[in-house]
Amino acid sequence: MDRERQNGAQAEPSGEEAASSQTRLRELTRNLTERVKELKCLYGISHLFEDEKLTLDEILQGVINFVPPAWQFPEVTCARIKLKNREFVTANFRETAWKQSQDILVNGKRFGSIEVYYLEEMPPSDEGPFLKEERNLIYVIAERLGHTIGRNIAEKNVKFLYHRERELRQKLQQQMRVRVDFTRKLMHELKTPLTSLIAMSQLLNDETRGEKYEKLAKYIWESANNLNNRIEELHDVIRGETGILRLSPKQLKIGELLHSLVEETRPQTQQCGMTMELELEEDLPEAYADPERLRQVMLNLINNACKYAREGGKITIRGTRLEQAIQIEVKDYGPGIPSEIQATLFEPGYQVAYHEERTGGLGIGLALCKTLVELHGGRIWAKSRAGKGSSFYFTVPVKEVKS
Ligand code: ADP
Repeated sequence: MDRERQNGAQAEPSGEEAASSQTRLRELTRNLTERVKELKCLYGISHLFEDEKLTLDEILQGVINFVPPAWQFPEVTCARIKLKNREFVTANFRETAWKQSQDILVNGKRFGSIEVYYLEEMPPSDEGPFLKEERNLIYVIAERLGHTIGRNIAEKNVKFLYHRERELRQKLQQQMRVRVDFTRKLMHELKTPLTSLIAMSQLLNDETRGEKYEKLAKYIWESANNLNNRIEELHDVIRGETGILRLSPKQLKIGELLHSLVEETRPQTQQCGMTMELELEEDLPEAYADPERLRQVMLNLINNACKYAREGGKITIRGTRLEQAIQIEVKDYGPGIPSEIQATLFEPGYQVAYHEERTGGLGIGLALCKTLVELHGGRIWAKSRAGKGSSFYFTVPVKEVKS
């Protein structure tokens, strides 16, 4: 009741006051209309940026068309986005003296600009004929354009790299196919005469009497066999590299396999003047491996120990249990591995120059061991010190390794 009386007691506004509040109201309404125009422009532009079906050119043309309606005098406003080698303009575009512009930066570098022109002279405002709010708006539009153009460039780069990678991969696969095909033919060409040579030298060996010729026949047979094994090894390395070497793994008692290997190679090691020791940890679990391929790895390591550590006198083979694998060590007490080839010991072909000079070998035995061990999901490495012998280690999984 008191309040009503008080309100009722308020004096009517004078004519001057009423005029000034009307002007204020008009100004507020005008400001509000301007802000609504800006918001509409930003909203429209956001839609363009989010539309994944539009190309960058369509987005830029769409953006520039949204600009004039957001400025104070749309009917006399035109605009342009100017990039390095192209531009996007409104239908009524013409350069004039009444210009507001903002640089477009992409990754911090100037990439172009966005410009707004009045086609006629307009009353002065905050920045020439332009409002400070219009400066803010052009700044925001330029910033968003910079982001979009940057993202578009990055996407183009990714697409380019993707296609390039696919192209290279296809080329590589084609080359691999040619290489595999060539290797298959080469192996056939080499092995056909070699197989008959082995068979005939075997016959010669069996039939020949007389120490001198018997020795010769044996030598021919051994050399032909050796060559055959080298070719097989090389073939396996190439098949391993091209991913077409397959294993036939199964659960196997590794202790039994090592025992039989020691027996099998005893004559050879004795010939080298060496003895062999087998140390197996008790209750070794079964390994999951291809027995033939495991034999191949072991034979290579034992052969090398015989070949390079003759003066060592002894070869020790150890089998130890690890958490998910069995570790096998082939240890000799020879001269050790030359430090200059240690880093590339398991790489095929790396040591050709070194081997040509000293051992005459191709250096593919250990490369093949690595291929075979890794195909099993295991690891192979060596430890060696000059004069202290060498140890080669590799692991064999106890269960199938899912890749
Ligand atoms: P290859 O025996 O055909 O030359 P490998 O790949 O089997 O090729 O061996 C590579 C090289 O590693 C050998 O030439 C030799 O120099 C060195 N090497 C391998 N095993 C031993 C070893 N037990 N002791 C000393 N050196 C070794």
